[in-house]
Amino acid sequence: MPEYIFYKTATELSSLLAKGELSAVELATSVLERTKSVDDKINAFISFDETDALKQAKESDERRKKGESLGPLDGIPVAIKDILAIKDQPLTCASKMLENFVAPYNATCIEKLKQTGAVIWGRLNMDEFAMGSSTENSAFHTTSNPWNLDCIPGGSSGGSAACVAAGESILSLGSDTGGSIRQPAAFCGIVGFKPTYGLISRYGLTAFASSLDQVGPMAHTVEDAALLLQGIAGYDALDSTSFKTEIPNYLEEIKNFDKKWKIGVPKEYFGDGIDPEIRQATMDAIEFYEKQGYDIVDISLPHTELAVPVYYVIATAEASSNLSRYDGIRYTHRSNLASDHVDLYFKTRGEAFGEEVKRRIILGTYVLSSGYYDAYYLRAQKIRTLIRNDFMDAFKSVDVIITPTTPSAAFKKGDKVEDPLEMYLNDIFTISVNLAGLPGISIPSGFTSSNLPIGLQIIGKPYQEAELLTVANVFNSEHDFHLKQPQI
Ligand code: GLN
Repeated sequence: MPEYIFYKTATELSSLLAKGELSAVELATSVLERTKSVDDKINAFISFDETDALKQAKESDERRKKGESLGPLDGIPVAIKDILAIKDQPLTCASKMLENFVAPYNATCIEKLKQTGAVIWGRLNMDEFAMGSSTENSAFHTTSNPWNLDCIPGGSSGGSAACVAAGESILSLGSDTGGSIRQPAAFCGIVGFKPTYGLISRYGLTAFASSLDQVGPMAHTVEDAALLLQGIAGYDALDSTSFKTEIPNYLEEIKNFDKKWKIGVPKEYFGDGIDPEIRQATMDAIEFYEKQGYDIVDISLPHTELAVPVYYVIATAEASSNLSRYDGIRYTHRSNLASDHVDLYFKTRGEAFGEEVKRRIILGTYVLSSGYYDAYYLRAQKIRTLIRNDFMDAFKSVDVIITPTTPSAAFKKGDKVEDPLEMYLNDIFTISVNLAGLPGISIPSGFTSSNLPIGLQIIGKPYQEAELLTVANVFNSEHDFHLKQPQI
C-alpha cells in the first residue's frame, strides 16, 4: 500500500483510527497539507471551510476518546460536490446564478453522513448545474486531471474524481444524471458508483433532471465505495421517489467471492468509435472473470444507439422546468439592469447562466412546447421504456453486464468545447444506465500507452447493489490499477 496517509483507503484509515495509531486531526492535517501543495495545479475545490473541517476532526477524536466512536467513517474526510446542500455553507452548482447562495438546510445524504461522524470536507468543482462531461462548464475554473494536467478530469463530478485521485480527500460524493460519477472516475483512475434510482435520497441535491439524478460515492476502492454507500443509502420520506428497501451490510456481502455470477457482454458496446486500448482492457477484464469461473454470455441491448438522443430530450426537458426557479426574484443572482419585472427574468438568466445551461434550457423548452411534445418528449419517453426493457430482458439470463465506461480516455482541455455533440457522445456507455434507473459502477481497469486511466463499467439489476459491488470487488481486489498514483 502507498505510504502517504492521504493515499490510504478509508478502510485502512478507519482501522488505524480505531487502534489509536492515528488521530482524525492528524489525518485531516495531512490531507489539508496535501491539498495546499497540489490544489493550485488541480483546482478541485470551489470552496473550503478549513476551520469547520478541523473542528469536525477534533470532535471525532473526542468521541473516540470517550469510547463513543460512530463507526468506520468516523473521522474520515468526505469531500462534497458543490451541488449538495450543507446547512450554512455556500452552494453554487458552479454557476454565477448561485454564486452567493448559502444553503439553509442539509441534504439528507449529508445529514446521514454527519451521523456516521465523517468529516465533511471541501466543496468540489463541477460542470455548471451538472451539465457537461469535462468540468469545463464550471463558471469559476476548470479542474485538471491529476494524471495529466493538460487533460480534463471528466465531468460533471470532475472535482469529486480529481480530489480523490490527487490525495486531496479520502472519499467524495458526486452526482450522476448520465454518467457524471462513472465517467470522471474512469478518467481519474478511481471507483465511482451510481446506485439504483431511489436508493439514496435526492432531498437537498440540486435538481438537474429529476428522473435521472442520483447521488453516489467516489473512492479508491470498491470496498471504500461500499463503506460510503452504507452511510448514505436508505429510504427518506422527504424524497417522494425514494424507495423502501432493506439495506444489506454491503461491506460484509462484498467479501463473498464464492458465488460465480453470470456476466453479460453486450455487442453494441464494442462497435466502431471505441479506442482500441479501451476495448483491449475491457476484453482483458472479461477474460479475467472467465478464468475466475464466471459464465460469460453474449447479449444484445438493441436500443443502445438511441440512448444519447433520448437522454438529450428527456434531460433537457426536465432541466428547463427545474431551472425555471432561478428567476432573480428569490435567492439567486439578480440583474441590476432590468427595466421591469419581465426584463428582470431575461436579464438575470441571460447574465448568470453559462452557454451550455442556456443551450439545454432552450432545447428542453422546445421539446416540451405544444406541437413538438408528441414528436420529441413523448417519443423519447417511449424509447426510454424500450431501453429499460432491453436491460430487463438481458437480466433474465445474466446477473450483471460488463462494458467499457467510456469510449476513450481523458481528452485534452479545450478539445471538445466547440463541439457539443462530440462532448455528448462521451457518455454513450453510461447514459442508458440512468435511463433504465439501474446501478452502475466504474472501476480502474488499466492505463493507456499515454498513462491515462481506463475504467470498466459493471451494470447491475435494480437494488442488487450488493451483487454488483461483489463482482466489482473481485476485480478490484485482484488488480493493482487503483494503487498507482499520479505524479503530481
Ligand atoms: N455529461 C452528461 C450531461 O452533460 C451527464 C451529466 C451528468 O451525469 N450530470 O448531461
